[in-house]
Amino acid sequence: MDYNLITNNATCHQMIADTVPISLVYYSHIPTAIIALLVGFFVFLKNKKDLLARLLLALSITFSLWLVGNFIVWIMNYNTLLTMVAWSPLGLINAIFFILSLYFVYVFIDKKDISFKVKILLAILSLPIIIMAPTKMNLSGFSMSWCEAMEQDFFLNYVFYFEIFISVWIAILSIQRYLKAKKEVRTQILLLSVGIILFLVSFFGASQIAIYTENFDYELYGLFGMTIFMGFLAYLIVQYHVFNVKLIAAQALVVSMILLVGSQFFFATNSTAIVLTGVTLALSLGFGYMLIRSVKQEVERKEQLQVMADKLAGANDQLRKLDNAKTEFISIASHQLRTPITAIKGFASLLLEGSYGELGDSVKGALEKIYGSSERLVSLIEDLLNVSRIESGRMQFAFEKANVEKLIKELYDNFILIAKTKEFFLELKMPKTPLPEIMMDYTKIRELTSNFIDNALKYTEKGGVTISAELRDSGVIIDENGFVIPNKKSEFGQMIRITVSDTGIGIPKEEIPYLFKKFSRGKDVSRLNVGGTGLGLYVGKAIAEAHHGQVWVESEGDKKGSSFIIEIPVEHIA
Ligand code: ADP
Repeated sequence: MDYNLITNNATCHQMIADTVPISLVYYSHIPTAIIALLVGFFVFLKNKKDLLARLLLALSITFSLWLVGNFIVWIMNYNTLLTMVAWSPLGLINAIFFILSLYFVYVFIDKKDISFKVKILLAILSLPIIIMAPTKMNLSGFSMSWCEAMEQDFFLNYVFYFEIFISVWIAILSIQRYLKAKKEVRTQILLLSVGIILFLVSFFGASQIAIYTENFDYELYGLFGMTIFMGFLAYLIVQYHVFNVKLIAAQALVVSMILLVGSQFFFATNSTAIVLTGVTLALSLGFGYMLIRSVKQEVERKEQLQVMADKLAGANDQLRKLDNAKTEFISIASHQLRTPITAIKGFASLLLEGSYGELGDSVKGALEKIYGSSERLVSLIEDLLNVSRIESGRMQFAFEKANVEKLIKELYDNFILIAKTKEFFLELKMPKTPLPEIMMDYTKIRELTSNFIDNALKYTEKGGVTISAELRDSGVIIDENGFVIPNKKSEFGQMIRITVSDTGIGIPKEEIPYLFKKFSRGKDVSRLNVGGTGLGLYVGKAIAEAHHGQVWVESEGDKKGSSFIIEIPVEHIA
């Protein structure tokens, strides 16, 4: 720098000391710079790769540099050369700080780097400041009579309008993004933009007020705006886990508290004050340590929980994929199996009927076995296909107005022979008054009821089965374990209820919650039904639910028989 300066100007130093309380200069600069740097570094060290954390560090370093420069200007006025060296970059640093603030807001809201175009625009706009800052277009010399550097209007004005421009940019950007944002992020955007704008305004406005009123205390007070900004930031960090570092806020708080208390030592004039400051400092250290430790524990616990939750979510995802793959596999395999099995069953039936000529008894016996097995296979395949249809949401329903009495009569006719061969009774209890027709998929409800009757005959050793249908004024509520909630009438409206009761092996209470689940079978049932799959009730439940109805079982327990019930609302739009 080629200024012709007298260094050591004691008069100016004195003059500054007379106009502004020097302790205010210390207070407004030193703790503020330290707090800013601490927050910046803490956040950065924990999130080195995060652009937002880097920007925060850049902001705090820039701000601290400005504070150091400004501090030297205030304190070192007797050394005019140093004052000039410290003063000349202040405008540039100021401008950089505004740019970084804008950058920070962009990244905070958009969660990504700013575009190349915006970077170029900012570089072009700040170029004149970079070029002018080290020249006499910025500071032309040092005025001995005013005790300050002689700032040039063009540079001052350029920086002034530049800062106004950036502030308006930040405001418009925040408003735009706020309006577009979802509710949950709106508060974050609001807090950040209000924090930054308050800070910029207090920082920038205070120095403007100081210039116009020539009372430079204001400029010093303006610096406390940084504390507001840091407060906002700390709040954002804690509240929204912006950097996920609650700990940082606690550490920064404790360190700055200790620094503030510690700085009292410089002002303590008597021994009582020194002792008091010492005690306060010790207490702050103790409490601060405890605070940091407890926050740390909490953060660690939360992090562990998060890791576990993430792992669980991953495993869950994996399971879902496996389950889908399995459903897909079952669907393909079953389709491939169905055609040949149907052919086997068809030809076996033709052979048995004698379409290919008279057969000997032993051949007939073997053919009957083939027929029986292939029938079991067909129904197993049908169950598997139904499961895969339910799980992939491809189960198709054809709703039409249909009659339940007709349905149970048909089923009765189908099963009466089987019941008779087993020496069981099969009773059909028709309602006293005719039932209204309801919208339903006749084939599917028939399939469901048929499975109830089929099971009832299979899981009964003596006695028999009763099929009944009735109209009820309202439906019952079934809890998540499959039990009817007593005394609670729901507002389902009229329901048609079909009940299949038997005098069979019954169902222990503890099995009821699982019965309607996929592949779920009772403990000792294989003895009575070897080929069961545990799929019939699961498919039935899905059919009932597609009709806005419900299925459940009631049983007094082992060997006490059971009643399988389905209810379908009379009025419902399919
Ligand atoms: P599957 O009969 O092929 O095993 P279901 O899904 O139709 O499959 O039935 C599931 C289970 O429910 C049966 O394995 C049996 O334990 C029980 N169950 C069904 N109906 C009755 C009944 N009427 N009496 C006793 N237990 C039954």
